[in-house]
Amino acid sequence: MTDVRIDDLPIRDELRGKSPYGAPQLDVPVRLNTNENPYPLPEPLVERIAERVREAARELNRYPDRDAVELRTELARYLTRTTGHEVGMSQVWAANGSNEVLQQLLQTFGGPGRIAMGFEPSYSMHGLISRGTGTGWISGPRRDDFGLDVAAAADAIARHRPDVLFITSPNNPTGTAVDADTVLALYEAAQAAKPSLVVVDEAYVEFSHRPSLLPLIEGRPHLVISRTMSKAFGAAGLRLGYLAAHPAVVDAVQLVRLPYHLSAVTQATALAALEHTDTLLGYVEHLKSERDRLVAELRAIGYEVTESDANFVQFGRFDGEGGAHAVWRKILDHGVLVRDNGVPGRLRVTAGTPEENDAFLDAVRALKKEHS
Ligand SMILES: *Cc1c(COP(=O)(O)O)cnc(C)c1O
Repeated sequence: MTDVRIDDLPIRDELRGKSPYGAPQLDVPVRLNTNENPYPLPEPLVERIAERVREAARELNRYPDRDAVELRTELARYLTRTTGHEVGMSQVWAANGSNEVLQQLLQTFGGPGRIAMGFEPSYSMHGLISRGTGTGWISGPRRDDFGLDVAAAADAIARHRPDVLFITSPNNPTGTAVDADTVLALYEAAQAAKPSLVVVDEAYVEFSHRPSLLPLIEGRPHLVISRTMSKAFGAAGLRLGYLAAHPAVVDAVQLVRLPYHLSAVTQATALAALEHTDTLLGYVEHLKSERDRLVAELRAIGYEVTESDANFVQFGRFDGEGGAHAVWRKILDHGVLVRDNGVPGRLRVTAGTPEENDAFLDAVRALKKEHS
């Protein structure tokens, strides 16, 4: 066969020369690179999933509930219970991972001739999904300590007038979270520039020291909170993300969602997981204390560590020869896979089980010794 590359195909111009999302999926003993939850689902939940999927299988000749009413009702109940803010089914929408939720939002509120903006370093998929939907992408500023400078951010918003604004809190890969006042200031700045959608990506909020920003949707129809079951619920393989917003936003994304996008099997599995919320949130407490241990131990070893509100920790600095990537490689040689997100001089490690975290800490201690 003749050698045909992507760029030889008649693909859209804005995709030319771009790389796909690609966290390495390497077969190493300790994988702490994609912010997954290290705990497998508990056996009673596995049984319950099998039961609910068996029931769903009996009706797989039919299309699933297109509006996922039962699932959205349970997600609304979860949000109400954990935030103390009353959320109804009509304010919740679900899709295959929060990535699909974000894609639907960009298809609805972004698109050709429109632009989205986020404050980088942040979740690379915000830019990638923007591009994939034909939406322009603007990278806004962060402070040197990776927090948001409200004045500089508001200034960038006024200059670029984005149609969609992403605020990730806690932020990935830095771990930093923002308070309600910051979100309100940026929301006001965005609305002053032009009517725009502000998306607060709370993928890691269950791990945060700070409360959810969800109550801010009250009276703000242009504000969306995005959530996922991939991290705190330990169900990355399930592919279930959701949003909370004004019911009009939920109605709007119906314009672009594929009919029957959420399979009956997915809906049944997510409903089973939501029945076991308390057990799963118990694991979150373990992970939070392991996260705090990683921060303390990394500092004790002599690394510079960014304050973390998530289930991962950003550490450095690696300004020597080869930079962070050379160190990433050396940690991998010790059988531990962490993440190089391309932030100069920094790496990111996901909080794993105590044993996995010990293996990681041993590896970085060994490195430190080699270099002193
Ligand atoms: C992991 C992550 C997600 C989750 O994406 P899913 O599609 O729900 O697995 C969303 N946003 C951020 C910032 C993330 O890091």
